[in-house]
Amino acid sequence: MASSLFAGFAKLADTVAATSSKIAKRDALAAYLAGLEVEDLGPVVSWLGGSALEGVAERLGLGWAQASAALAMASGAEEEALRAAWLRHSDFGDAAADLLAGRPTSRLTVAEVAAGYRAISVTRKTDKRVGLMAELLRRASAAEARYLAKIAAGELRIGLREGLLEEAVAAAFDASLTAVRRALMLTGEAAETARLARAGHLADAALHLGRPIRFMLATPAADAVEIIRRVGDEAWVEDKYDGIRAQLHALDGQIQLFSRDLKNITAAFPEIVSAASAIPGRFVLDGELVPYRSGQVMDFASLQTRLGRVRPSAELIDRVPVVLVAFDLLHHGGVDHLEHPLRDRRAGLESLRLPEATGGLILYSHLERASSAEAVDALFDEARARHNEGLMVKDPTSVYQPGRRGMGWLKLKKALATLDCVVVGVEWGHGKRRAVLSDYTFAVRTDGGVLLTIGKAFTGLTDAEIAALTEHFTEITVEDFGRYRTVAPEVIIEVAFDRIMRSGRHRSGFALRFPRIVRIRTDKSLAEIDDLAGVEALFMAQASGRILLATGRDGEVERIAATGELAGG
Ligand code: ATP
Repeated sequence: MASSLFAGFAKLADTVAATSSKIAKRDALAAYLAGLEVEDLGPVVSWLGGSALEGVAERLGLGWAQASAALAMASGAEEEALRAAWLRHSDFGDAAADLLAGRPTSRLTVAEVAAGYRAISVTRKTDKRVGLMAELLRRASAAEARYLAKIAAGELRIGLREGLLEEAVAAAFDASLTAVRRALMLTGEAAETARLARAGHLADAALHLGRPIRFMLATPAADAVEIIRRVGDEAWVEDKYDGIRAQLHALDGQIQLFSRDLKNITAAFPEIVSAASAIPGRFVLDGELVPYRSGQVMDFASLQTRLGRVRPSAELIDRVPVVLVAFDLLHHGGVDHLEHPLRDRRAGLESLRLPEATGGLILYSHLERASSAEAVDALFDEARARHNEGLMVKDPTSVYQPGRRGMGWLKLKKALATLDCVVVGVEWGHGKRRAVLSDYTFAVRTDGGVLLTIGKAFTGLTDAEIAALTEHFTEITVEDFGRYRTVAPEVIIEVAFDRIMRSGRHRSGFALRFPRIVRIRTDKSLAEIDDLAGVEALFMAQASGRILLATGRDGEVERIAATGELAGG
């Protein structure tokens, strides 16, 4: 049968957005999904999950600047009108619907839209990608354009809370929710999960070697007492390494490495790849890439120089040697291990004898057992003495939950107080920085995705980083007020600070004392920045007397701690 009209998808999205009832949302979704042809099911479910493409690691490659250019081409709007629409809505989809108001319903089909996004993703030239997006928008009605643009921007914003899509898939195809969740966990892809559900084959779901799955995340813990209370009396305590998260897939000597945002970073770490390729068999590891020399972890800052390089020079590899500290085994020899307890996964990991097999390029995380808060505290100090950030405390009976911040993993670091924020405004600097955009106003988000400013920072980044950002911010400037510019919310920064205060100065109702940028979080998306509820929680933790220590690239932690300025905070 023919592919459904995209207008039907737009109508469904409007219906789901219009109700706040979870059940009504789920039922509308389920009825729509059940009526789709199998070819349309994959794209639709991916779009509902917030991604334009089916492949979990695929990227559309349309930033704000390109999406705006496409909208300008499709609508014929001048720069001024475009900017005004963006400022009215702060949402690419709503701005598109506004500028294309009055366009009649089209014959655009789901299959055509899916093919359009695919074409954009595989086209290298920026102007061609912009042209392809413009073509989609040009053919669409205003209502369709709204969702074409929202999908391209990576967020539908129709109030689909975590889990609702899984529930709808289960209801649509009369499958058990547990089976749907399990399939999603193993395949990592909503599209494949939905197709398996439709065919009644959910039990066949499996991890694919060479295709990354989402990483399991950790829940922050306030102190050792809380940790023991949560994990019970057999806590597995590992050092928390400060590097970059990586998933290594080995298929009979063929190695692929993926970062936390599921990008393929194989070429960036050739020494790890070559070491791992010597190990026979098929397996998937989870771990942290850490700068390491002569048996010692080096400062995270040294890794920064390797992060921007797609292919590092031999000189750079020599200057910043890296090891992979492995802490989990997700697959081995045809068997998926995600549903096995950590205790067994670790035993499997150790059976690979990775340090010996790789000449020390793949190591195991430092692991101890603890049954009291005192023991956890002592291990914390030891981890810090080994130059690590703190501890990861794991429940040995826990399963691996991709993409979840569960209670199976808890993290404990002294430096509680950093926030991941998005830059929404930039300013020219002063003195030697007057030619660069170096002062950044940043925001957190509400549950509904509204951005609220919380502070302004101008320290922490290197000159090279600021120079690169200046170029980027110029490209994504929404409005230029002379000294100050508003920019599209694209650049995520991790901000450290001394304390949070209530303040009317920023729209969030909070302000940060001595904010400084710890690092640029290219591995995080806008949806992953901190939200207002998180800020409130930090504020309360601070008010209740827990000490918050700020972290920086250059060991500020110790200095601030030593002055005792924050004690009793
Ligand atoms: P953070 O900024 O604290 O790293 P995050 O939001 O990036 O937080 P979390 O999942 O909250 O990520 O913190 C856990 C992170 O710690 C993991 O993503 C991983 O990169 C890192 N890590 C370091 N050592 C370990 C370890 N032994 N086990 C698991 N994760 C570890």
